[in-house]
Amino acid sequence: MTMRLRFAPSPTGYLHVGGARTAVFNWLLAQSAGGVFVLRIEDTDRARSSDEHTQVILDGLSWLGVTWDEGPFFQSEGVERHRADALRLLAEGKAYRDFSDPEQVRAEAKERGMHPSKVAREQADALGADGSDQRAVAGDPFAVRFRVPDGEAVFHDLVHGEMRFGSDDVDDLVILRSDGTPTYNLAVVSDDAEQGITLVLRGDDHLSNTPKQVLLYQALGYAQPTFAHVPMILGSDGKKLSKRHGATAVGDYSGQGILPEAMFNFLALLGWSPGDDREFMSIEELTEAFSADRLLKSASVFDTEKLEWLNGRHLAARPTEELVRALEEGLDGPGVERLGDPVWTAALLELIKPRSRTMNDLVEQARPFVTDDLAFDDKAVEKHWLKSPGEARERLSALLEAFSGVAWTHDELESALRGAAAKLEVGAGKVIHPLRVALTGNMASPGIFDVLVQLGRERSEQRVNSALERLAEAGAEEHESLS
Ligand code: GLU
Repeated sequence: MTMRLRFAPSPTGYLHVGGARTAVFNWLLAQSAGGVFVLRIEDTDRARSSDEHTQVILDGLSWLGVTWDEGPFFQSEGVERHRADALRLLAEGKAYRDFSDPEQVRAEAKERGMHPSKVAREQADALGADGSDQRAVAGDPFAVRFRVPDGEAVFHDLVHGEMRFGSDDVDDLVILRSDGTPTYNLAVVSDDAEQGITLVLRGDDHLSNTPKQVLLYQALGYAQPTFAHVPMILGSDGKKLSKRHGATAVGDYSGQGILPEAMFNFLALLGWSPGDDREFMSIEELTEAFSADRLLKSASVFDTEKLEWLNGRHLAARPTEELVRALEEGLDGPGVERLGDPVWTAALLELIKPRSRTMNDLVEQARPFVTDDLAFDDKAVEKHWLKSPGEARERLSALLEAFSGVAWTHDELESALRGAAAKLEVGAGKVIHPLRVALTGNMASPGIFDVLVQLGRERSEQRVNSALERLAEAGAEEHESLS
Protein backbone atom coordinates (compact mmCIF):
# COMPACT_ATOMS: atom_id res chain seq x y z
CA MET A 1 0.00 0.00 0.00
CA THR A 2 1.31 3.43 -0.86
CA MET A 3 2.25 5.40 2.19
CA ARG A 4 0.29 8.64 2.38
CA LEU A 5 1.49 11.38 4.70
CA ARG A 6 0.43 14.91 5.36
CA PHE A 7 1.50 18.16 6.91
CA ALA A 8 -1.46 20.02 8.37
CA PRO A 9 -0.46 23.46 9.65
CA SER A 10 -2.96 25.92 11.07
CA PRO A 11 -2.47 29.33 9.45
CA THR A 12 -2.72 31.12 12.77
CA GLY A 13 0.95 32.13 12.85
CA TYR A 14 4.18 31.85 10.94
CA LEU A 15 5.86 28.60 9.96
CA HIS A 16 7.72 27.95 13.17
CA VAL A 17 10.64 25.64 13.64
CA GLY A 18 8.55 22.82 15.13
CA GLY A 19 6.10 22.89 12.23
CA ALA A 20 8.90 23.03 9.70
CA ARG A 21 10.54 20.00 11.33
CA THR A 22 7.23 18.08 11.08
CA ALA A 23 7.00 19.04 7.40
CA VAL A 24 10.59 17.95 6.74
CA PHE A 25 10.09 14.58 8.44
CA ASN A 26 6.90 13.88 6.51
CA TRP A 27 8.48 14.94 3.23
CA LEU A 28 11.58 12.81 3.83
CA LEU A 29 9.50 9.76 4.72
CA ALA A 30 7.34 10.22 1.64
CA GLN A 31 10.42 10.59 -0.54
CA SER A 32 12.30 7.64 0.90
CA ALA A 33 9.26 5.34 0.91
CA GLY A 34 7.95 6.41 -2.51
CA GLY A 35 4.90 7.76 -0.71
CA VAL A 36 2.55 10.66 -1.31
CA PHE A 37 2.84 13.88 0.64
CA VAL A 38 -0.32 15.90 1.12
CA LEU A 39 -0.45 19.50 2.29
CA ARG A 40 -3.56 20.54 4.18
CA ILE A 41 -4.11 23.99 5.60
CA GLU A 42 -6.24 23.68 8.74
CA ASP A 43 -8.04 26.98 8.55
CA THR A 44 -11.25 26.14 10.40
CA ASP A 45 -10.47 28.62 13.17
CA ARG A 46 -11.65 31.52 11.02
CA ALA A 47 -10.98 34.15 13.65
CA ARG A 48 -7.29 33.27 14.01
CA SER A 49 -6.50 32.07 10.48
CA SER A 50 -5.38 34.45 7.78
CA ASP A 51 -4.41 34.32 4.12
CA GLU A 52 -1.23 36.12 5.00
CA HIS A 53 -0.18 33.34 7.35
CA THR A 54 -1.11 30.72 4.77
CA GLN A 55 1.14 32.47 2.28
CA VAL A 56 4.01 32.72 4.76
CA ILE A 57 3.72 28.98 5.47
CA LEU A 58 3.68 28.12 1.76
CA ASP A 59 6.67 30.41 1.16
CA GLY A 60 8.55 28.87 4.10
CA LEU A 61 7.98 25.36 2.74
CA SER A 62 9.08 26.38 -0.76
CA TRP A 63 12.19 28.03 0.67
CA LEU A 64 13.08 24.80 2.47
CA GLY A 65 12.49 22.80 -0.69
CA VAL A 66 9.55 20.92 0.79
CA THR A 67 7.19 20.20 -2.09
CA TRP A 68 3.85 18.45 -1.93
CA ASP A 69 2.22 15.94 -4.23
CA GLU A 70 -1.38 16.86 -3.41
CA GLY A 71 -2.94 20.06 -2.14
CA PRO A 72 -2.85 22.48 -0.62
CA PHE A 73 -6.29 21.43 0.58
CA PHE A 74 -8.11 23.82 2.84
CA GLN A 75 -9.88 22.26 5.78
CA SER A 76 -12.63 24.88 5.60
CA GLU A 77 -13.65 23.47 2.22
CA GLY A 78 -14.60 20.18 3.90
CA VAL A 79 -16.97 21.63 6.50
CA GLU A 80 -20.06 20.03 4.92
CA ARG A 81 -18.40 16.62 5.04
CA HIS A 82 -17.29 17.16 8.64
CA ARG A 83 -20.85 18.09 9.54
CA ALA A 84 -22.21 15.07 7.71
CA ASP A 85 -19.86 12.82 9.66
CA ALA A 86 -21.00 14.34 12.94
CA LEU A 87 -24.66 14.00 12.02
CA ARG A 88 -24.11 10.40 10.97
CA LEU A 89 -22.68 9.63 14.41
CA LEU A 90 -25.71 11.38 15.90
CA ALA A 91 -28.11 9.33 13.76
CA GLU A 92 -26.33 6.12 14.74
CA GLY A 93 -26.59 6.96 18.46
CA LYS A 94 -22.80 7.35 18.72
CA ALA A 95 -23.17 11.01 19.50
CA TYR A 96 -25.81 13.08 21.27
CA ARG A 97 -27.21 16.58 21.23
CA ASP A 98 -26.05 18.71 24.10
CA PHE A 99 -28.57 21.47 24.86
CA SER A 100 -27.00 22.32 28.18
CA ASP A 101 -25.98 25.76 29.26
CA PRO A 102 -22.17 25.62 29.46
CA GLU A 103 -22.04 27.94 32.50
CA GLN A 104 -24.52 25.87 34.44
CA VAL A 105 -22.80 22.61 33.45
CA ARG A 106 -19.42 23.93 34.52
CA ALA A 107 -20.76 25.06 37.89
CA GLU A 108 -22.51 21.76 38.52
CA ALA A 109 -19.48 19.74 37.44
CA LYS A 110 -17.31 21.72 39.82
CA GLU A 111 -19.69 21.19 42.69
CA ARG A 112 -19.91 17.45 42.06
CA GLY A 113 -16.19 17.08 41.32
CA MET A 114 -16.62 15.61 37.88
CA HIS A 115 -15.82 16.50 34.28
CA PRO A 116 -18.38 18.80 32.59
CA SER A 117 -18.87 16.29 29.79
CA LYS A 118 -20.22 13.78 32.34
CA VAL A 119 -22.83 16.29 33.45
CA ALA A 120 -23.69 17.03 29.82
CA ARG A 121 -24.13 13.33 29.11
CA GLU A 122 -26.37 12.88 32.17
CA GLN A 123 -28.56 15.75 31.03
CA ALA A 124 -28.77 14.33 27.51
CA ASP A 125 -29.66 10.90 28.82
CA ALA A 126 -32.31 12.39 31.08
CA LEU A 127 -33.81 14.22 28.11
CA GLY A 128 -33.95 11.00 26.09
CA ALA A 129 -34.02 10.56 22.32
CA ASP A 130 -37.56 11.83 21.85
CA GLY A 131 -37.02 14.84 24.06
CA SER A 132 -33.86 15.62 22.16
CA ASP A 133 -35.66 15.40 18.78
CA GLN A 134 -38.46 17.64 20.03
CA ARG A 135 -36.09 20.35 21.23
CA ALA A 136 -34.15 20.17 17.97
CA VAL A 137 -37.38 20.52 15.94
CA ALA A 138 -38.35 23.46 18.16
CA GLY A 139 -35.11 25.12 17.09
CA ASP A 140 -33.25 25.04 20.39
CA PRO A 141 -29.51 25.38 19.81
CA PHE A 142 -27.34 22.41 20.61
CA ALA A 143 -23.80 21.15 20.29
CA VAL A 144 -23.09 17.57 19.26
CA ARG A 145 -20.96 15.50 21.61
CA PHE A 146 -19.30 12.20 20.80
CA ARG A 147 -20.44 9.48 23.19
CA VAL A 148 -17.10 7.90 24.06
CA PRO A 149 -17.67 4.14 24.07
CA ASP A 150 -16.51 1.94 26.94
CA GLY A 151 -13.30 0.10 26.29
CA GLU A 152 -9.87 1.13 25.14
CA ALA A 153 -8.37 3.33 22.49
CA VAL A 154 -5.34 1.50 21.10
CA PHE A 155 -2.97 2.75 18.46
CA HIS A 156 0.46 2.03 17.18
CA ASP A 157 2.95 4.84 17.42
CA LEU A 158 6.25 4.54 15.56
CA VAL A 159 8.02 6.55 18.27
CA HIS A 160 6.23 5.43 21.42
CA GLY A 161 5.20 1.89 20.50
CA GLU A 162 1.74 0.54 21.33
CA MET A 163 -0.36 3.12 23.18
CA ARG A 164 -3.46 2.24 25.16
CA PHE A 165 -5.90 4.64 26.75
CA GLY A 166 -8.94 3.58 28.77
CA SER A 167 -12.23 5.27 27.92
CA ASP A 168 -12.13 6.84 31.39
CA ASP A 169 -9.22 8.92 30.15
CA VAL A 170 -11.27 10.32 27.27
CA ASP A 171 -14.20 12.67 27.83
CA ASP A 172 -17.22 13.03 25.58
CA LEU A 173 -15.90 15.70 23.29
CA VAL A 174 -17.86 18.27 21.36
CA ILE A 175 -17.60 17.44 17.66
CA LEU A 176 -20.01 20.07 16.33
CA ARG A 177 -20.35 23.41 18.08
CA SER A 178 -23.77 24.98 18.57
CA ASP A 179 -23.04 27.33 15.65
CA GLY A 180 -22.70 24.24 13.44
CA THR A 181 -18.90 24.42 13.04
CA PRO A 182 -16.88 21.22 13.45
CA THR A 183 -14.14 20.96 16.08
CA TYR A 184 -10.52 20.11 15.34
CA ASN A 185 -10.65 16.44 16.39
CA LEU A 186 -13.60 15.65 14.15
CA ALA A 187 -12.32 17.66 11.18
CA VAL A 188 -8.86 16.12 11.33
CA VAL A 189 -10.23 12.55 11.38
CA SER A 190 -12.69 13.28 8.60
CA ASP A 191 -9.95 14.86 6.46
CA ASP A 192 -7.29 12.25 7.14
CA ALA A 193 -9.79 9.55 6.21
CA GLU A 194 -10.95 11.43 3.09
CA GLN A 195 -7.36 11.98 1.98
CA GLY A 196 -6.40 8.36 2.68
CA ILE A 197 -3.63 9.22 5.12
CA THR A 198 -1.84 6.09 6.32
CA LEU A 199 0.71 7.66 8.66
CA VAL A 200 0.10 10.70 10.83
CA LEU A 201 3.46 12.10 11.86
CA ARG A 202 3.22 15.21 14.05
CA GLY A 203 4.50 16.82 17.23
CA ASP A 204 3.83 15.06 20.50
CA ASP A 205 1.79 18.03 21.71
CA HIS A 206 -0.99 16.21 19.83
CA LEU A 207 -0.50 12.92 21.68
CA SER A 208 -3.39 13.62 24.04
CA ASN A 209 -5.75 14.15 21.08
CA THR A 210 -4.92 10.83 19.49
CA PRO A 211 -7.11 8.54 21.67
CA LYS A 212 -10.10 10.78 20.85
CA GLN A 213 -9.29 10.61 17.17
CA VAL A 214 -8.77 6.84 17.28
CA LEU A 215 -12.21 6.37 18.83
CA LEU A 216 -13.71 8.63 16.17
CA TYR A 217 -12.07 6.58 13.39
CA GLN A 218 -13.65 3.47 14.83
CA ALA A 219 -17.06 5.03 15.34
CA LEU A 220 -17.07 6.38 11.79
CA GLY A 221 -15.82 3.09 10.37
CA TYR A 222 -12.73 4.66 8.83
CA ALA A 223 -9.37 2.89 8.49
CA GLN A 224 -7.12 4.01 11.30
CA PRO A 225 -3.68 5.31 10.32
CA THR A 226 -0.45 4.59 12.10
CA PHE A 227 0.88 7.46 14.19
CA ALA A 228 4.30 8.89 14.94
CA HIS A 229 4.52 11.58 17.59
CA VAL A 230 7.88 13.27 17.47
CA PRO A 231 9.31 14.89 20.59
CA MET A 232 9.34 18.55 21.39
CA ILE A 233 12.13 20.87 20.42
CA LEU A 234 13.78 22.56 23.38
CA GLY A 235 15.87 25.69 23.61
CA SER A 236 19.45 25.39 24.83
CA ASP A 237 18.20 26.09 28.38
CA GLY A 238 16.07 22.94 28.30
CA LYS A 239 12.80 24.89 28.09
CA LYS A 240 10.26 24.55 25.28
CA LEU A 241 11.47 26.52 22.27
CA SER A 242 9.81 29.91 22.13
CA LYS A 243 10.36 33.50 21.14
CA ARG A 244 12.58 33.90 24.20
CA HIS A 245 15.21 31.85 22.39
CA GLY A 246 15.36 34.32 19.52
CA ALA A 247 13.97 33.55 16.12
CA THR A 248 11.50 30.69 15.93
CA ALA A 249 9.92 31.49 12.55
CA VAL A 250 11.70 29.82 9.66
CA GLY A 251 11.52 33.05 7.65
CA ASP A 252 13.67 34.84 10.25
CA TYR A 253 16.52 32.45 9.57
CA SER A 254 16.47 33.02 5.85
CA GLY A 255 16.84 36.73 6.62
CA GLN A 256 19.89 35.94 8.75
CA GLY A 257 21.79 34.30 5.94
CA ILE A 258 20.93 30.70 6.80
CA LEU A 259 20.77 28.58 3.65
CA PRO A 260 17.68 26.45 3.10
CA GLU A 261 19.68 23.24 2.72
CA ALA A 262 21.43 23.93 6.03
CA MET A 263 18.11 24.54 7.78
CA PHE A 264 16.71 21.40 6.19
CA ASN A 265 19.72 19.36 7.34
CA PHE A 266 19.48 20.84 10.83
CA LEU A 267 15.73 20.19 11.16
CA ALA A 268 16.13 16.61 9.94
CA LEU A 269 18.48 15.95 12.86
CA LEU A 270 16.05 17.31 15.47
CA GLY A 271 14.59 14.02 16.61
CA TRP A 272 16.10 11.70 14.03
CA SER A 273 19.56 10.31 13.49
CA PRO A 274 21.08 8.49 10.53
CA GLY A 275 22.44 5.85 12.91
CA ASP A 276 26.07 6.80 12.29
CA ASP A 277 28.03 9.91 13.14
CA ARG A 278 27.13 11.90 10.05
CA GLU A 279 25.75 15.38 10.65
CA PHE A 280 26.53 17.40 7.55
CA MET A 281 24.21 15.83 4.98
CA SER A 282 22.74 16.91 1.68
CA ILE A 283 19.02 16.58 1.04
CA GLU A 284 19.79 13.59 -1.22
CA GLU A 285 21.79 11.89 1.54
CA LEU A 286 19.05 12.57 4.06
CA THR A 287 16.42 11.14 1.72
CA GLU A 288 18.53 8.05 1.22
CA ALA A 289 19.10 7.53 4.95
CA PHE A 290 15.74 8.56 6.38
CA SER A 291 13.52 5.96 7.95
CA ALA A 292 10.92 6.01 10.69
CA ASP A 293 12.68 3.41 12.81
CA ARG A 294 15.36 5.88 13.81
CA LEU A 295 13.01 8.57 15.04
CA LEU A 296 14.21 9.49 18.52
CA LYS A 297 12.10 9.47 21.63
CA SER A 298 13.93 12.10 23.62
CA ALA A 299 13.42 15.82 23.14
CA SER A 300 15.92 17.52 20.89
CA VAL A 301 17.70 20.79 21.51
CA PHE A 302 17.74 23.67 19.08
CA ASP A 303 21.44 24.46 19.05
CA THR A 304 22.04 27.68 17.12
CA GLU A 305 25.78 27.08 17.14
CA LYS A 306 25.26 23.79 15.32
CA LEU A 307 22.91 25.41 12.80
CA GLU A 308 25.57 27.99 11.99
CA TRP A 309 28.25 25.35 11.73
CA LEU A 310 26.10 23.34 9.32
CA ASN A 311 25.42 26.52 7.40
CA GLY A 312 29.15 27.06 6.94
CA ARG A 313 29.52 23.53 5.62
CA HIS A 314 26.63 23.89 3.19
CA LEU A 315 27.89 27.28 2.12
CA ALA A 316 31.28 25.80 1.27
CA ALA A 317 29.54 23.10 -0.77
CA ARG A 318 27.68 25.59 -2.96
CA PRO A 319 28.95 25.85 -6.54
CA THR A 320 31.83 28.31 -6.99
CA GLU A 321 29.94 30.43 -9.57
CA GLU A 322 27.27 31.09 -7.02
CA LEU A 323 29.72 32.19 -4.35
CA VAL A 324 31.46 34.45 -6.84
CA ARG A 325 28.11 35.99 -7.71
CA ALA A 326 27.46 36.68 -4.02
CA LEU A 327 30.86 38.41 -3.79
CA GLU A 328 30.16 40.45 -6.91
CA GLU A 329 26.83 41.54 -5.53
CA GLY A 330 28.17 42.24 -2.05
CA LEU A 331 31.33 44.15 -2.92
CA ASP A 332 31.95 47.33 -4.84
CA GLY A 333 34.68 49.93 -5.27
CA PRO A 334 38.15 49.81 -6.79
CA GLY A 335 39.49 46.29 -7.11
CA VAL A 336 36.28 44.30 -7.69
CA GLU A 337 37.39 43.54 -11.23
CA ARG A 338 39.83 41.09 -9.66
CA LEU A 339 36.89 38.74 -9.21
CA GLY A 340 36.99 38.33 -12.98
CA ASP A 341 40.16 36.24 -12.65
CA PRO A 342 38.83 32.72 -12.02
CA VAL A 343 42.09 31.25 -10.72
CA TRP A 344 42.66 34.09 -8.27
CA THR A 345 39.02 34.01 -7.13
CA ALA A 346 38.99 30.24 -6.67
CA ALA A 347 42.09 30.52 -4.47
CA LEU A 348 40.45 33.31 -2.49
CA LEU A 349 37.35 31.19 -1.90
CA GLU A 350 39.43 28.29 -0.63
CA LEU A 351 40.99 30.67 1.84
CA ILE A 352 37.83 32.26 3.17
CA LYS A 353 35.24 29.47 2.92
CA PRO A 354 36.41 27.68 6.07
CA ARG A 355 36.09 30.95 7.99
CA SER A 356 32.59 31.83 6.80
CA ARG A 357 29.32 30.61 8.24
CA THR A 358 27.00 32.82 6.21
CA MET A 359 27.09 34.55 2.82
CA ASN A 360 27.51 37.78 4.68
CA ASP A 361 30.60 36.41 6.43
CA LEU A 362 31.95 35.33 3.07
CA VAL A 363 31.58 38.82 1.64
CA GLU A 364 33.21 40.42 4.68
CA GLN A 365 36.07 37.93 4.63
CA ALA A 366 36.66 38.65 0.94
CA ARG A 367 36.52 42.44 1.26
CA PRO A 368 40.17 43.18 2.22
CA PHE A 369 41.42 40.94 -0.59
CA VAL A 370 39.18 42.31 -3.28
CA THR A 371 38.97 46.01 -2.57
CA ASP A 372 41.82 48.35 -1.71
CA ASP A 373 39.82 50.57 0.64
CA LEU A 374 40.73 48.87 3.87
CA ALA A 375 38.40 49.43 6.79
CA PHE A 376 40.71 49.48 9.78
CA ASP A 377 39.50 47.95 13.01
CA ASP A 378 40.26 50.56 15.68
CA LYS A 379 41.07 47.96 18.29
CA ALA A 380 43.54 46.18 16.03
CA VAL A 381 45.22 49.46 15.11
CA GLU A 382 45.46 50.51 18.72
CA LYS A 383 46.78 47.21 19.96
CA HIS A 384 49.25 46.27 17.26
CA TRP A 385 50.35 49.67 15.94
CA LEU A 386 49.66 52.63 18.16
CA LYS A 387 50.67 51.20 21.49
CA SER A 388 54.20 51.37 20.24
CA PRO A 389 54.40 52.93 16.76
CA GLY A 390 58.19 52.95 16.76
CA GLU A 391 58.40 49.20 17.27
CA ALA A 392 55.68 48.49 14.74
CA ARG A 393 57.54 50.59 12.18
CA GLU A 394 60.80 48.89 12.87
CA ARG A 395 59.25 45.46 12.42
CA LEU A 396 57.33 46.30 9.26
CA SER A 397 60.41 47.89 7.69
CA ALA A 398 62.44 44.80 8.52
CA LEU A 399 59.79 42.69 6.82
CA LEU A 400 59.75 44.78 3.68
CA GLU A 401 63.47 44.34 3.45
CA ALA A 402 63.34 40.61 4.15
CA PHE A 403 60.63 40.06 1.54
CA SER A 404 62.31 42.10 -1.15
CA GLY A 405 64.53 39.42 -2.58
CA VAL A 406 62.41 36.30 -2.05
CA ALA A 407 60.11 34.36 -4.33
CA TRP A 408 56.50 35.21 -3.40
CA THR A 409 55.49 31.78 -2.11
CA HIS A 410 54.13 30.61 1.21
CA ASP A 411 57.32 28.83 2.27
CA GLU A 412 59.79 31.46 1.13
CA LEU A 413 57.78 34.20 2.80
CA GLU A 414 57.59 32.20 5.98
CA SER A 415 61.32 31.67 6.23
CA ALA A 416 61.97 35.33 5.38
CA LEU A 417 59.57 36.46 8.11
CA ARG A 418 61.02 34.10 10.69
CA GLY A 419 64.54 35.25 9.76
CA ALA A 420 63.52 38.89 10.21
CA ALA A 421 61.93 38.18 13.58
CA ALA A 422 65.04 36.34 14.75
CA LYS A 423 67.23 39.26 13.74
CA LEU A 424 65.03 41.61 15.74
CA GLU A 425 65.15 39.12 18.59
CA VAL A 426 61.37 38.92 18.90
CA GLY A 427 58.92 36.06 18.46
CA ALA A 428 57.29 35.66 15.02
CA GLY A 429 53.91 36.80 16.46
CA LYS A 430 55.36 40.23 17.19
CA VAL A 431 55.92 40.83 13.50
CA ILE A 432 52.87 38.95 12.25
CA HIS A 433 50.37 41.07 14.22
CA PRO A 434 51.33 44.50 12.85
CA LEU A 435 51.66 42.93 9.40
CA ARG A 436 48.16 41.49 9.56
CA VAL A 437 46.74 44.91 10.45
CA ALA A 438 48.67 46.43 7.55
CA LEU A 439 47.41 43.86 5.05
CA THR A 440 43.80 43.38 6.15
CA GLY A 441 42.98 46.12 8.67
CA ASN A 442 41.82 43.40 11.04
CA MET A 443 42.83 41.53 14.14
CA ALA A 444 42.08 38.15 12.53
CA SER A 445 42.52 36.74 9.04
CA PRO A 446 43.46 33.52 7.27
CA GLY A 447 47.08 32.39 7.77
CA ILE A 448 49.37 35.37 7.16
CA PHE A 449 51.48 33.68 4.46
CA ASP A 450 48.34 32.70 2.56
CA VAL A 451 47.19 36.31 2.85
CA LEU A 452 50.48 37.55 1.41
CA VAL A 453 50.32 35.11 -1.48
CA GLN A 454 46.71 35.93 -2.22
CA LEU A 455 47.35 39.68 -2.23
CA GLY A 456 50.49 39.34 -4.31
CA ARG A 457 53.79 41.15 -3.94
CA GLU A 458 52.77 44.53 -5.25
CA ARG A 459 49.64 45.02 -3.18
CA SER A 460 51.24 43.59 -0.06
CA GLU A 461 54.17 45.97 -0.34
CA GLN A 462 51.87 48.89 -1.02
CA ARG A 463 49.86 48.15 2.08
CA VAL A 464 52.94 47.80 4.25
CA ASN A 465 54.26 51.09 2.85
CA SER A 466 51.07 52.94 3.62
CA ALA A 467 51.12 51.41 7.11
CA LEU A 468 54.66 52.76 7.52
CA GLU A 469 53.49 56.23 6.51
CA ARG A 470 50.69 56.17 9.02
CA LEU A 471 53.03 54.92 11.69
CA ALA A 472 55.56 57.64 10.89
CA GLU A 473 52.84 60.26 11.40
CA ALA A 474 51.72 58.62 14.62
CA GLY A 475 55.32 58.41 15.81
CA ALA A 476 55.91 62.12 15.04
CA GLU A 477 52.78 63.12 16.94
CA GLU A 478 53.88 60.99 19.84
CA HIS A 479 57.22 62.70 19.76
CA GLU A 480 55.67 66.13 19.73
CA SER A 481 53.38 65.41 22.59
CA LEU A 482 56.28 64.10 24.63
CA SER A 483 58.56 67.08 24.03
N1 GLU B 1 -3.39 21.83 12.60
C1 GLU B 1 -2.70 21.20 13.68
C2 GLU B 1 -1.59 22.10 14.17
O1 GLU B 1 -1.13 22.96 13.44
C3 GLU B 1 -2.05 19.90 13.32
C4 GLU B 1 -3.01 18.80 13.26
C5 GLU B 1 -2.38 17.47 13.06
O2 GLU B 1 -1.23 17.37 12.64
O3 GLU B 1 -3.11 16.52 13.30
O4 GLU B 1 -1.17 21.96 15.29
